[in-house]
Amino acid sequence: MGDPLEPTDPNLPPLAGYVAHRVPGYRASKPYVCPGCDNSVPAGQGHVVAWPEHLEDDRRHWHLHCWRIAARRGRLA
Ligand SMILES: [Zn+2]
Repeated sequence: MGDPLEPTDPNLPPLAGYVAHRVPGYRASKPYVCPGCDNSVPAGQGHVVAWPEHLEDDRRHWHLHCWRIAARRGRLA
């Protein structure tokens, strides 16, 4: 599958053991549920996609602010 994601944004806060990328709004073609707050990430809204290293099938879609909180905390939840 061709990966449609942007390269890692160096301004995105890192979380050890995870890979995170920004998804710009124009590429957010469907809604997701953010694992940080259990609320919707609507289609068309820029957000963060993240997955455990080597487990890209486990990718989850986060609000940017929820990802920042998780990264600051140092763990997903
Ligand atoms: Zn959220």
